[in-house]
Amino acid sequence: MLFWQVKKMLDGYGRNINYLRVSVTDLCNLRCVYCMPAGGVAKKEHRDMLSFEELENIVRAAAKLGIDKVRVTGGEPLVRRGIVQLIDRLAVIPGIRDLSMTTNGILLKKYAAELKKAGLNRVNISLDSLDEAKYRKITRLGNVQDVLEGIKAAQEVGLTPVKLNVVLIGGFNDDEIEDFVSLTLKEEIQVRFIELMPLGETAGWEPGSFISNDEVLRREPGLIPLPIKGQGTVARMYKLPHGKGQVGLISPLSNHFCHYCNRLRVTPDGKLKACLHSSREINLKNVAPEELPSLIMEGIMSKPYRHHLSREQASLTQRNMNEIGG
Ligand code: SAM
Ligand code: SF4
Repeated sequence: MLFWQVKKMLDGYGRNINYLRVSVTDLCNLRCVYCMPAGGVAKKEHRDMLSFEELENIVRAAAKLGIDKVRVTGGEPLVRRGIVQLIDRLAVIPGIRDLSMTTNGILLKKYAAELKKAGLNRVNISLDSLDEAKYRKITRLGNVQDVLEGIKAAQEVGLTPVKLNVVLIGGFNDDEIEDFVSLTLKEEIQVRFIELMPLGETAGWEPGSFISNDEVLRREPGLIPLPIKGQGTVARMYKLPHGKGQVGLISPLSNHFCHYCNRLRVTPDGKLKACLHSSREINLKNVAPEELPSLIMEGIMSKPYRHHLSREQASLTQRNMNEIGG
């Protein structure tokens, strides 16, 4: 078998690398305080960003190396012009069995049906508060009603299972844990609490902002643990008795999941990152398609065993999350 046709790609530590996150823009229609500066980011030259053709070539090359899950992210992927056409192009790539998107949901009502038709399977929607004023405060610009309508639209067209990403911030939204968990009683939704990471904007935040996901279990002792589903499942899953949905805990600080990590990331300007928290990047921009497999392989083989992130130790990456893709 030729190496670029292998169906499973193990890294140096035996992890099966089968998941690629591609960030299609660093721009966003929100300015979440933990992710982006208030003034946004300077718009880069179009020629410095990956074109749709380059993105497609990268995903094709990765698929031949064993990547079968792709997540489109950003910045906010729905602000990239032509996003539906990009999904159309990625959805037909042989070997990709799961194509998803992480979005803030603001534009989802407008795009949900088109995205589904283009071949997107499902969405993760970020929502850190159910309260209008608090949502505006954390996003600086957003209206929570738009997100709620976006969630509904995603459910209606079948971009399911819908997962809600809730970044827990001590003193800001930990009082809403019960409200978020309650959503899973009646809705077939997965609420995923994510520990805030000290990275970019949050690198100097006070320790009290970084709370452990154990807080969720402390406040919701009735949650029932669910069995772990295979490698690469970074969320510990729970459900309420009689709940229709599920609760996931993603704990990069208190319970790092590096030994399960099956991910690669590509930034909007075409840098391959084998670890979110490493400063090591491999350029894939302006590279001939036939060179992509060996560069992606190099990324896989250079994936570090683990990160050393903690409340006290900020990420080694020089980028904000909007420039990497979460
Ligand atoms: N704009 C889209 C959204 O908000 O869903 C996609 C990109 S955003 C960078 C992806 C995810 O990263 C979001 O769920 C966001 O809350 C999360 N994120 C951003 N900065 C983070 C940080 N410092 N710690 C933990 N999660 C973070
Ligand atoms: Fe935008 Fe997502 Fe970052 Fe919020 S978390 S500023 S929505 S990229």
